[in-house]
Amino acid sequence: MAIVHCYACGKRISDKAPSCPHCGAVRSSDPEAVAEARVRQQSIKLSKFNNGSMLALVAAGLGFLVLWFLSSRPELVPELQPTIKWLAKALLAVGLTGYIVCRVMMVWYKRKGG
Ligand SMILES: [Zn+2]
Repeated sequence: MAIVHCYACGKRISDKAPSCPHCGAVRSSDPEAVAEARVRQQSIKLSKFNNGSMLALVAAGLGFLVLWFLSSRPELVPELQPTIKWLAKALLAVGLTGYIVCRVMMVWYKRKGG
């Protein structure tokens, strides 16, 4: 009997235990399968943040386009321009902030290694 580290919680468990007694993660005797599961978990998280950052970038781009479009056409809906411009600026700010947050989270997850 040997002592190994649980791939999920990192605590020491017997290599004969079918699952981790600390966190309940099912142990695999195949280290490649364990590494694969870890990589898969990480890539799912990363792709979520990647999608989020893309969405945020699109929102920021949309806000920028609306601002640019209205600025080039001041005769268009003059009474609504301040409101639309305010909304577009908010969209731009939220989008940029969301993008930066997602990128930071991605770097953080990569460094943490899952
Ligand atoms: Zn565990």
